[in-house]
This record gives sequence, structure tokens and C-alpha cells, in this order.
Amino acid sequence: MFDTIHFKKPLICPDCGAEQSSLQTKDFDCCMLHFKIGSVLSGSTVLTGIIKDTLWCDACYKAGKRPADSPVYLIIWHSLLAGVEQDLAKAEARLAAVDRLDLIAWLDEAQREAARWSRNYHKLFSDVSRWHEHLTRPPEPERIGADAERQRAFRRLFSLPDEILTAPDPLAAILAANKQASDDVED
Ligand SMILES: [Zn+2]
Repeated sequence: MFDTIHFKKPLICPDCGAEQSSLQTKDFDCCMLHFKIGSVLSGSTVLTGIIKDTLWCDACYKAGKRPADSPVYLIIWHSLLAGVEQDLAKAEARLAAVDRLDLIAWLDEAQREAARWSRNYHKLFSDVSRWHEHLTRPPEPERIGADAERQRAFRRLFSLPDEILTAPDPLAAILAANKQASDDVED
């Protein structure tokens, strides 16, 4: 097993120029964890320093070439992943330059991400709950006159939108709508 480090901007294979957006590494706990800049590296035996790893290139591998021994330097600062560089001098400079503004930026990003996840799942949970209510609610008699308008307004407020209720597979429509909403937020 391994862990995956995701780069902020892709690294370039020095052999073929292919872009690499992540690195599978056995340097840490190997628990299929995902790390990015600012992540706490659980299982790192290095607390502050630089770990040398190797950039893997799928394109070179598929072309039958043995990927060149292309080093990737993981910059670790108080167990946090502070950066990824392909050049040792740049990695050393980055390690020396980490300061509390970096910490604040990572904290800010982590909190935004937590809020985004919480928002997404709150909405998904609410939609699925409303679908469950819709399935289990005994049918209401249709009102007439002014009451009918009030009944429709009430339904619009608390029911799922018609395009979900009338979809061939409402549950799939709920998942698709929530996936779309979360992709939009990430863009
Ligand atoms: Zn390559």
C-alpha cells in the first residue's frame, strides 16, 4: 500500500515532459491517505526536513522506457507537508522560508474545505430525507380555490423540485444535482 501526494501545480517528467499531478509514496503510513500542501503527514519519521522520493511517469512506463531517476523532494516542516520540489536547492530554500503566514494560509484553506464538505453533505442529507418523506407520506387530498395555491406554495417550499420528483430515478437525480453543486463550488 501507499499514500498519495497531490501537487498544487503538476510536476513535469524530465524525460518526456508529461505532467504529473500526484505521487504515490511509501514514505509515510501507507494507509491510502491523500496529502496536499499543508497536510499533516501522519506516519512521517521526519519531523522537519526533506525526503527524497522519485517521480513516477506513467507515459514513460507505457512507452516501455524505464522512467529516468527523477527525484522529488518532499519538504516537511513540523510534520506538515510544506512543499514539493524537483530541485534540491529550491527545496532547501522553501524549507528555510516557511513561516507563520504559510500556517495561516493552510489553516484557512483547511477550514474552508471543512465548511464546503459540511455544506455539501448537509444538502445531500436534506434532499435524501425529503425523498424519504415523499415516499412515506400518505397522499394528501388536493385542495381547491385559495387553499390549492397555498398548498402548492407550501409544497414548493418543502418538497424536492419537480425535475427530481418526476425523474425516472429520483435518487440518481438527487446525487447528480448534489455532485453538480459541489463541482460548481470547487470551480
Ligand atoms: Zn515521462
